[in-house]
Amino acid sequence: MVCLNAIMQNILLIIADQLTFDAIGCRGNQYVHTPNIDSLFNNGVGLGRVYSQYPLCGPVRASFWTGRLPHQTGVVSNGGDYQNKDIVEQGIPTLGQQLVKAGYHAIHFGKNHDYGGLNGFEQLPREEVAFNDPDGWPLNYDSFWDEGTTRQVEHYFRSMAGKTLDKPFAAVADLNNPHNICGYIGEFIGEHDNPPYPDGPLPPLPDNFAFDDIANRPRSVQYICCAHRRQAQTAGWTAENFQHYLAAYYHYIDMTDRNIGRILGSLDESGQRENTTIIFMADHGDNVAARGMTTKHTSFYEQTTRVPMIFSGKGIPQQGKWLDDGLFSLMDLAPTLCDIAGTSMPDAQPGHGYSMLPFATGEKSGQQRDYVVSQWHTEWGYTIEPGRMLCSGRYKYTRYLEDVGESRGEEFFDLEKDPGEKRSLIHDPAYQDELNRHRQLFNQYLQETGDDFLSHSWQAKDRYRSHALGYNQHTGLCAPDFEQMIAGK
Ligand code: ZN
Repeated sequence: MVCLNAIMQNILLIIADQLTFDAIGCRGNQYVHTPNIDSLFNNGVGLGRVYSQYPLCGPVRASFWTGRLPHQTGVVSNGGDYQNKDIVEQGIPTLGQQLVKAGYHAIHFGKNHDYGGLNGFEQLPREEVAFNDPDGWPLNYDSFWDEGTTRQVEHYFRSMAGKTLDKPFAAVADLNNPHNICGYIGEFIGEHDNPPYPDGPLPPLPDNFAFDDIANRPRSVQYICCAHRRQAQTAGWTAENFQHYLAAYYHYIDMTDRNIGRILGSLDESGQRENTTIIFMADHGDNVAARGMTTKHTSFYEQTTRVPMIFSGKGIPQQGKWLDDGLFSLMDLAPTLCDIAGTSMPDAQPGHGYSMLPFATGEKSGQQRDYVVSQWHTEWGYTIEPGRMLCSGRYKYTRYLEDVGESRGEEFFDLEKDPGEKRSLIHDPAYQDELNRHRQLFNQYLQETGDDFLSHSWQAKDRYRSHALGYNQHTGLCAPDFEQMIAGK
């Protein structure tokens, strides 16, 4: 526990949804305009190797609000026809409850999708405000949530002006963007022309857009399109279509940053800025055309699992740099906020996180854990494709239960030599010792955390493995569309 000051400081946690780690200006991306996120970074510090423990909204949020892995919360899908367990009914302690016990006014604005994980936080009804962005390109599909959330946060902070708080606040501004990119894809399905792009040259495709390793990947990745509507909808896209998708994604990020600027401006008006520790993060990433993939689902590549994490404000020295030598997880969020609040999460178990605060303040450095883990089970329950990822820093090992084909359901990457994950090394003789070491680490993880992954079964009908190999070859309906159609939904 780190005591920064005898006076309890406020906490402002700002969350973006589906923001990959390097799609911000302060990470060197020249195609976004994120001056407010960059300002937090320049006045604070970034943790550069933070991984999402499940690259899907519902499971990862239930997980990071409780500090328990998804298999421990029982929230392993986004819902739909698949039954998740409720956090509150299970009696699992939550971060919000612990912050309240520590004397905080814990309040949450915006996106929830938490399955009870936000228990303890005061939650305002989410306001859906129709929003017509005058600078909007190409269209602001679904963008009404963040406007309402931002207005609520502004009102909350402005109402503090000139007052002395009777207790510190732990406020969460939970923004939905750039998640709107999912709706964008739904508007531009398959072969299509693009509307004119008004803002100069289109952003370039990533180095790993071209991809020739598909035969070497697990079935769940090869046919990700058949489980994931958004990937199926991109079949037939041209390279230029993918560039427009990137431009749209960056547009939604710019919108997010403008909302963050308004939130920070109202914090200034509250008079509380000097006594507030600010954390900015995302729940998971987006594939941003890497390997010709979009959004997130089933796989564990860097773009979907690695997220930005920035500390700024009270107690955080101005460093303006990324700490890329550590290895963190969103499992570490609850312990970190508890650390700032001078408390700790009850009933910590193996596999749970630890506080990132000493790293942000410079008291600790380097890699303090052997690995981080991410999980997958299903999005809606139409296909069940259990998978796990274990990243040890330099190496990444993935394992799927659908263990057929050349890969036998495994991948192995040397992120130092191949940061784009272009080539899986499962069959490379030079990597067999490291691969076996990671298989052992994975078994150790399963035992230590009580993860019964190996006893699950995968369920994907033959029709979802039937077209020519590769997600860019997709034809027909994918599982959510077909199964809903035959169920008459
Ligand atoms: Zn398919």
